[in-house]
Amino acid sequence: MTATGCDRKAGGVGESPHDDIEQVLISGESIQERLSALAEEINRDYAGRELLLVGVLKGAFILMADLARRLQIPVEFDFMAVSSYGSATQTSGVVRIIKDLDLDIADRHVLLVEDIVDSGLTVNYLLRNLRARGPASVEIMALLSKPDQIRVELPIRYHGFAVPNVFVVGYGLDYEEQYRNLPYVGTLRDAVYGSARPRP
Ligand code: 5GP
Repeated sequence: MTATGCDRKAGGVGESPHDDIEQVLISGESIQERLSALAEEINRDYAGRELLLVGVLKGAFILMADLARRLQIPVEFDFMAVSSYGSATQTSGVVRIIKDLDLDIADRHVLLVEDIVDSGLTVNYLLRNLRARGPASVEIMALLSKPDQIRVELPIRYHGFAVPNVFVVGYGLDYEEQYRNLPYVGTLRDAVYGSARPRP
């Protein structure tokens, strides 16, 4: 059954979200392998210390869950939700905090966990915002980055993969709130966008 005859709404053209994928750029296995390596680094770097993971919602929720289960150090969790002024797919660099942290991060070791760094403006803003709260340290983890797009220099301590300058979905990343649950990262078929293909 196709989208015309089933209950799928908003965007999707296939029966399953997998049907809407044009190309898998990073397989689920590669992501899990890379996460294991990064978690090992984090376990080593923070040995003997307590870590506060701060996830940027919604995109980082799957990454946070997979990463956290590989950590052997004591970990606490908090989340922020931000919205960027600008179009749905192009950030303006002006960020509004929709959900702030619940915890006080003063004197804490904080690891900011982000799904994708595109221009870098969102993470740059968050980094400055978190640093102003007096943490013992703040580091950045980004699963993905688009090196061709970056507009600010960011000290990304833990980095997963570079992707080309294309719009990607999966592993927490959405298009119109869909595709976050795909275990891999990929691009969408043209038909999904209709006439509104997001600029990468
Ligand atoms: P930046 O401020 O670095 O330009 O934008 C970061 C945010 O833009 C990410 O947290 C993500 O929400 C969104 N974003 C950037 N590139 C992509 C992409 O290729 N796919 C999706 N789904 N979101 C993206």
